[in-house]
Amino acid sequence: AKRAGRNGYAVFDPTMTMSVLEEAQLRIDLEQALEREEFAVLYQPVVDMQTQSVTSVEALVRWNHPRDGLLGPYHFIAAAEANGLIVPLGRWVLREACAQLARWRAESPAAATLKINVNLSARQFQYAGLVDDVAGALHDAGLDAAALTLEITESMLMEDIETAKRTLHALRGLGVRLAIDDFGTGYSSLSYLKQLPVDVIKIDKTFVDDVDTDADDVALVDAVAGLGQALKMQTVAEGIETDAQWATLRRLGIDHGQGYLFGRPADPEQIRALLNGVSTI
Ligand code: C2E
Ligand code: CA
Ligand code: CA
Ligand code: CA
Repeated sequence: AKRAGRNGYAVFDPTMTMSVLEEAQLRIDLEQALEREEFAVLYQPVVDMQTQSVTSVEALVRWNHPRDGLLGPYHFIAAAEANGLIVPLGRWVLREACAQLARWRAESPAAATLKINVNLSARQFQYAGLVDDVAGALHDAGLDAAALTLEITESMLMEDIETAKRTLHALRGLGVRLAIDDFGTGYSSLSYLKQLPVDVIKIDKTFVDDVDTDADDVALVDAVAGLGQALKMQTVAEGIETDAQWATLRRLGIDHGQGYLFGRPADPEQIRALLNGVSTI
């Protein structure tokens, strides 16, 4: 499951089947990477659709691989999910992201109301210690629970609905906000969505790509905006790259936006500069 990468390095390619040996090696590599602190978190701005001011940042994990360079989640999240290492890795991301938000807030008045979004994987969501992990990360960073939004996907909620609902209510009980990620790509029904204690709907990039030109996408996004209003959930559009997409989504009443137009995933110093109005990213 390795192929020559851009720089002639070998990188993991999840679309290729791994041998048992390669899987075992990747597991060892991931374990070592955690111990050696080779993972890093980048942060992508989420902005207010009207003002473009940054309201939140989404934590996105990277692996600073000693041989293969900076690897995106595509190269290791699925494997970590399969071998269970996603639980300690996800815990590390959560703790790191909370600690980083506390640092930004301490450094800069511009970060006083900044919030953080953290992705959860299916395995993490099923893990019995999740609620304690979340409470611990907030406590140790000295953050109020409302500063944290956890992102989960529809498919994670469909597997065992009753357990999922209990977990969501326990997290909500802490005061944490919950977002449905990649909305529209799963199969959750409206009646189901209505029962869930969800605060935010993140509209998948696939509906955003052609929203400035495709009437069907306009109709779909319009419907989701209405859904958000009816269910009192905030809406975020993902993957906004152009002014035309932004203008259309704003007109449709989407609350927040995320995408390269507003900022790529960036390191903590770049985010600090962005918040202070010193630079764009
Ligand atoms: P996601 O949660 O849907 O995150 C958004 C992805 O879209 C990110 O990719 C981001 O860099 C990319 N993106 C944002 N704006 C644009 C845009 O305007 N154009 C394009 N082409 N792409 C854009 P990334 O960082 O490679 O992450 C991919 C996925 O990996 C994430 O998708 C998420 O599912 C997963 N992931 C990332 N970090 C974590 C983590 O800490 N834990 C877990 N469980 N999953 C993670
Ligand atoms: Ca996400
Ligand atoms: Ca997403
Ligand atoms: Ca997506």
